[in-house]
Amino acid sequence: MGLLDKEFAEGNIIVAKTDDVLNWARLSSLWQMSFGLACCAIEMMATSASHYDFDRFGVIPRPSPRQADLIIISGTVTLKMAIRIKRLYEQMPDPKYIISMGSCANCGGPYWEHGYHVLKGIDRVIPVDVYVPGCPPRPEALLEGLLKLQEKIRHESLRKKSA
Ligand code: SF4
Repeated sequence: MGLLDKEFAEGNIIVAKTDDVLNWARLSSLWQMSFGLACCAIEMMATSASHYDFDRFGVIPRPSPRQADLIIISGTVTLKMAIRIKRLYEQMPDPKYIISMGSCANCGGPYWEHGYHVLKGIDRVIPVDVYVPGCPPRPEALLEGLLKLQEKIRHESLRKKSA
């Protein structure tokens, strides 16, 4: 019996691309920074609660940006807060991801025209991976946004990114 035949007889061997294995692990364990801004954050909290159970997708809230690779911008971003959000984003380790949740975070929402104090879209200060529309988006919409982000991560290549 050859060496490989012996290995197959005694156990299982799985052959896979490194990117596939790493991406599967990364998309199944997104650690979300515990962070909310306004009414959309209530829907985000509902998504984490038992009925919608964000946890089953591997999304675990973390209290520090240094331990998180996902931030959900859930609510109105005032100009004052935008500076703080940028700082939090910069403290997160790479690779990191942003979901913009709701009209306020996407484009200023109901404050778009007269909200002199509101940023007209979080993508003016940090890059956004997935936009979730709505005012507020329901938990199902946020779950859909997460699935879209997972799909994006599935097709990334960390090797090519670091090259
Ligand atoms: S999009 Fe609507 S629900 Fe969400 S923070 Fe803005 S006003 Fe509130």
